[in-house]
Amino acid sequence: MKATLSLGRIAGVRVGLHWSVLGIVAILVSLALARWPVVVPGYSWLAYAIAAVVTAVLFVGSLLAHELAHAVIARREKVDVDGITLWLLGGIARLRGEAVTPGAALRIAAVGPAMSLLLSAVFGLIVLPFAGGGGSPLAAVTFGYLAVINVVLAVFNLIPAAPLDGGRILRAALWAWRGDRDEAAVWSARAGRAFGFGLVLLGAVWLLTGNGADGLWWILIGLFIVTVASAEERQAELSGSLRDVLVADVMTRDPETVDGDRTVADFIRIDALVRKHSAYPIVDDHGGVRGLVTLSRIKRVPPERRATTTLADVACPPERIPMSWPAERLTDLLPRMAGCEDGRALVYADDVLVGIVTSRDISHAVAVSDLNDTRRIVHPAGYGEPMTVQQDKRSI
Ligand SMILES: [Zn+2]
Repeated sequence: MKATLSLGRIAGVRVGLHWSVLGIVAILVSLALARWPVVVPGYSWLAYAIAAVVTAVLFVGSLLAHELAHAVIARREKVDVDGITLWLLGGIARLRGEAVTPGAALRIAAVGPAMSLLLSAVFGLIVLPFAGGGGSPLAAVTFGYLAVINVVLAVFNLIPAAPLDGGRILRAALWAWRGDRDEAAVWSARAGRAFGFGLVLLGAVWLLTGNGADGLWWILIGLFIVTVASAEERQAELSGSLRDVLVADVMTRDPETVDGDRTVADFIRIDALVRKHSAYPIVDDHGGVRGLVTLSRIKRVPPERRATTTLADVACPPERIPMSWPAERLTDLLPRMAGCEDGRALVYADDVLVGIVTSRDISHAVAVSDLNDTRRIVHPAGYGEPMTVQQDKRSI
């Protein structure tokens, strides 16, 4: 999901708002405006309006703090964080890569609900002085509501169903117990799917019994959980089937390179048709990679500017291309490639470029692994040798 409005970086993490976050604001503001004149009567409409907006803004701030907690701990556990986006159904912290141990996965997941509980305690403490009868009842209701809604957020997120935090905690526990990260992910995703369907059903019953908007809301959240959980289940199964595949097994070796000082027009005239690849690293005289040119980047240069634009001008800079090494597990590289706009990774051995991995290489590896369970890729002793696929005849 692409953020509509960037809020810059908070604690080093990129934070953005998707326009649909206005839905949360609208729901909370209308809820507060409808209920509070009944609960604490006697204020001007302006006072209710201010209290309603404060509630909505502080709740969105609470969501942000929850996601930031995930992001900060993820970075501490050496998992790259792409950024945080707040939207209609809450927040999403986009992590690139996986925690290395079940303990790290547990800490990244658990800190979000812990932050929500902490916020609830803080809002609760603000309400305390009002309980003795001092201060404004409207302010007491505002902060009391924020305390309650943060507890609800923490408890809902602790339900053991991926992609909720509780699902991540369940996954970490299964991973620690059974020792298999992919299997643990499959089961927590299945729990997520079942829970999501349950919510949809609940919402439908709610709708049919005449509770209108609330039922629609549960259906929406349920469908979202089912969609994400199903995708995670597929991803975990894929990861399981590619478990033994190394980057060296799938990469295209010794990729063809281009000279970055040549113009786009020159490349199109001389190379484009003859060369068969769709991505070319730009390498300097010392073998250092200066960028990656892809056909889709070249296509974006308007015809009138092709003669004056060099390949280096349109190339993806090296720091935005995922790096790998021949002995890395392909499944460890996949999450990094998912966050990369060009869909390719460069493979280095001793700082020298030795290969390139494209999405086509990966779908080929998946197709091979799907052919037969007994077919497995045998790693060559060194990455310089060709990949061999052997068939284990005993098991057929
Ligand atoms: Zn969370």
